Amino acid sequence: MKLDKFERYPLTFGPTPIEHLPRLSEALGGKVEVYAKREDCNSGLAFGGNKLRKLEYIVPDAIASGADTLVSIGGVQSNHTRMVAATAAKIGMKCVVVQEKWVPHYDAVYDRVGNILLTRLMGADSRLVEDGFDIGIRQSWEDAMQSVRDSGGVPYGIPAGASEHKFGGLGYVRFAEEVKAQEQELGFNFDYIFVCVVTGSTQAGMIVGFAVQDRADRVIGIDASGTLEQTRNQVRRIVDNTAELVALGRPVRDDEIIINPDYAYPAYGVPSEETNAAIRLVAKTEAMITDPVYEGKSMQGMIDLIRTGSIPAGSKVLYAHLGGAPALNGYSYYYKDG
Ligand SMILES: *Cc1c(COP(=O)(O)O)cnc(C)c1O
Repeated sequence: MKLDKFERYPLTFGPTPIEHLPRLSEALGGKVEVYAKREDCNSGLAFGGNKLRKLEYIVPDAIASGADTLVSIGGVQSNHTRMVAATAAKIGMKCVVVQEKWVPHYDAVYDRVGNILLTRLMGADSRLVEDGFDIGIRQSWEDAMQSVRDSGGVPYGIPAGASEHKFGGLGYVRFAEEVKAQEQELGFNFDYIFVCVVTGSTQAGMIVGFAVQDRADRVIGIDASGTLEQTRNQVRRIVDNTAELVALGRPVRDDEIIINPDYAYPAYGVPSEETNAAIRLVAKTEAMITDPVYEGKSMQGMIDLIRTGSIPAGSKVLYAHLGGAPALNGYSYYYKDG
């Protein structure tokens, strides 16, 4: 496996801490020990998150391309567009982000607070459009690229979630190496790794990284997209592309790609009662903050699978906390009473 041949532009502090969550473990019956890898605390750039780990491998290509403007796309409360805006500010480029109406959620300040507020604050040109949820390549993104060219700039396009970018999976290949090194220090191995999946390159990178260690099927993706087939196909594509890039040396089998669709209801970006219960439980037991779009759903999934005994007693599980807390501000009414 060859990851070192790819240039990496550091945007994060370094390896992220692994934190034991004893009070959450106890609240779930005390038979499974839960740990969190704090990707949400990975950087000082605008609250950090998983997209920065991906962008570290994309920035060298953006700089080499001669671009002066990063162009990307996401929902109104997109963490990804916040992270692209942060990266552009940090490397001295301009930034245009298209923010689509991905979520059927109506809060008076939804397009004024949280991620989009931070995105604007960092100087990005944030353009609100009416298109609905879709993780693929969009016309509005092509239009934004063209508008940069029309005004004499040189755009560099980064697709939704940095996922369908040729280097989008590399950051989380590295994550798997990091976990292995930390397990050696801890003196034990994790039995399962839980991760939220939507645009796919986070889990896809992990699958390739953990395939090197022959345990890709221990990465449990919890879907939050609500469009399982599209997400699964995208993960498959990114796995294949990334495996080839790093010369994994063998094809990844379909049964090494585990995505659980049971917790994405009622829709992308809309929390269920059970999502909100999960968000409250982990906040009250561990002061760990999760959001209603992503980590609330993967937390809900992990909690349910532990409580129902699907995760065998005695297991140690690692919850990959990918970030996303700023979005909570767009959902304040749900949590007005805690
Ligand atoms: C983007 C994101 C995810 C999903 O990651 P993908 O690589 O898009 O599948 C999960 N959690 C948070 C906080 C995110 O910002």
